[in-house]
Amino acid sequence: NSFCTLLEAGHRLSPLAAADHPLVPVPMEQQQRVQVSVRIRPVIAGGSAMHQQEQYEHIAATRTGDNGVSLQEHKLDEACRSSAFQFDYVFDSDSTQLEVYEDAVVDLIDAALQGGSNATILAYGQTGSGKTHSMLGDVRPNPLDDQLLTPQSGIFLRVLSDLLAFRERRADKTHVVIGLSCVEIYNEKIRDLFGGSSADDPPPPLKAVMVDEHVLLPGLIVKEVMTLNSVFNELQLAIQRRQSRATGANKESSRSHCLFTVDVLQR
Ligand code: ADP
Ligand code: MG
Repeated sequence: NSFCTLLEAGHRLSPLAAADHPLVPVPMEQQQRVQVSVRIRPVIAGGSAMHQQEQYEHIAATRTGDNGVSLQEHKLDEACRSSAFQFDYVFDSDSTQLEVYEDAVVDLIDAALQGGSNATILAYGQTGSGKTHSMLGDVRPNPLDDQLLTPQSGIFLRVLSDLLAFRERRADKTHVVIGLSCVEIYNEKIRDLFGGSSADDPPPPLKAVMVDEHVLLPGLIVKEVMTLNSVFNELQLAIQRRQSRATGANKESSRSHCLFTVDVLQR
């Protein structure tokens, strides 16, 4: 079975950016740190050739204890070799979207809202290992239910849902603005997935420029997020615009990198 890795990094805002806001300092141990979580994907019935093949293979990765993964390599006529690794969090094949969010992500959102830190969540892994499932999950709004988050909703919608709930709670005290942008990096070209007049139009290209240590994208479209419903609509448009190429491993695989940036301003 394959697994994907979630990398998270938190780092302090630059002093200039932080100076405008009355922020609570981020504790030393939360600054500049990277956490690595592993999520083991279950074997999937049916689907692509790769997934069908998996059903007849040995389970390669198993969770050991709270934070360990044991990998077994089975080869014909050879004794099974195994290696053990430790991670910050290990999510087994029966882990839920909510568990992943609550264990590995929610503290980053708190740190960003309370302490003004920046946070990045990166999913890394081979095609078909569960990156899109973990990050986006199911993004179809359920028309029979006004409950927009479902058990299948991934990290991204849960983050936006919590940020919007925070904005609601603070409405009488603080002015909170949530901005969202979405770019795709495909063959080293950057495109704005919020640009273009219709969903079938190719998204407009962006040029990255380096200013000191910062990578900037002049002309990037940032949309203000008011409701979770609007996030669904924007997200569905962006997903449609994402370049999709079929691969042997995963029909839906886009073979591109997708980058969402969420800006939270508090005044
Ligand atoms: P990637 O984005 O890494 O290429 P996907 O997220 O598209 O991979 O996952 C490949 C397939 O496996 C999809 O059909 C997805 O729904 C399914 N899948 C991935 N992770 C899980 C999981 N933890 N539980 C159930 N199904 C999963
Ligand atoms: Mg994917």
